[in-house]
Amino acid sequence: MPKTSETTLEIDLGALEHNYHFLRSRLKPKTMFLAVVKAYAYGSDAVIIAKKLEGLGVDYFAVAYVKEGVALRKAGIEKPILVLHPQVLNFDELIENCLEPSLYSPKVLREFLEAAKRNHQKEYPVHLKFNTGLNRLGFWENDIDYIVELLTGRKELKVASIFSHLAASEDMKEQEFTAQQIKSFKKIAGQVDKKLGFRSFRHLLNTSGILNFPEAQFDMVRSGIGLYGFGNDKEFDAELKPVVALKTIISQMHKIEPHESVGYNRAYTSDRNRITATLPLGHADGIGRQYGNGKAWVNVNGKMAPIIGNVCMDMIMVDVTGIECQEGDEVIIFGEKPNAEEFASFANTISYELITGISQRVTRKLKGH
Ligand SMILES: *Cc1c(COP(=O)(O)O)cnc(C)c1O
Repeated sequence: MPKTSETTLEIDLGALEHNYHFLRSRLKPKTMFLAVVKAYAYGSDAVIIAKKLEGLGVDYFAVAYVKEGVALRKAGIEKPILVLHPQVLNFDELIENCLEPSLYSPKVLREFLEAAKRNHQKEYPVHLKFNTGLNRLGFWENDIDYIVELLTGRKELKVASIFSHLAASEDMKEQEFTAQQIKSFKKIAGQVDKKLGFRSFRHLLNTSGILNFPEAQFDMVRSGIGLYGFGNDKEFDAELKPVVALKTIISQMHKIEPHESVGYNRAYTSDRNRITATLPLGHADGIGRQYGNGKAWVNVNGKMAPIIGNVCMDMIMVDVTGIECQEGDEVIIFGEKPNAEEFASFANTISYELITGISQRVTRKLKGH
């Protein structure tokens, strides 16, 4: 592996393949697999990730917004793409690109029915999202009769699936709440099927759902973070491999005398002679100020070096006293050690926030290329 010569987010497709097979191994062979590639495939590169996963045989993709789906279509992705949070404004574009909307409220359903009519669609596949306790997006159980009334005898739309989303699938202390969500989802899906007079496919589980509640896999599961290497649990993290690694180099080193300060607002002052290294990435690249002032550590030639002082927009300074290193050496911000979950925990956040927040300024590169 050549060492990096600029700040780079390295994408490991071998790790992605490993994670896909691991997650699949927890499922029945017939269960369909939807890969969640919203937010640039959790901050990596949606096209590269989706192409690889399409090759591996995933059945469905999901994005949050229409423009994310359009980008995948433009890149040649052919599998169905579910848009989790489509905006009414983009419905025509959604239809033009054969994207499939999640419909979650009577208003959104009415608006989409209009759009389908306007675009002369027949049996356009839609997905009905029900709220079973997350209280974020979703129809309520008592919307079923209205949905059925609106759709019966109408040819424009076809309910492809019924789905819901778990609120605490990673938290075994909330097992009872999750069991209640599963129960309520079954009841709702049963009612919708019965009233519409046909069976749509069903899906409920995200990554932690797959790992903790496989009995509720229904016809399809939706996985995001697990594909990228994290399972919201030490035990599962050990089975998965991080897909992205954020690497950079040392721009410059400084010898700091006792009582000298480093960085803006003189937030760090040295107690003794120290060596610092300045790295070319900062809060504009997605390493927020909360990682500064000794909270987080980066990997310099296998040794952990703390970020000292305030994180700047384009730079951070780390204390490399006692670590053998020089200008131009590679530095790992997160990857294998520390991994993104560990690095995120330095700032009391989670891998999801850290990896989706790596800004578009950072060069994406395939591992081994
Ligand atoms: C983002 C999202 C997922 C993926 O969740 P992970 O925890 O990353 O597996 C699944 N379903 C819905 C509705 C989502 O919004």
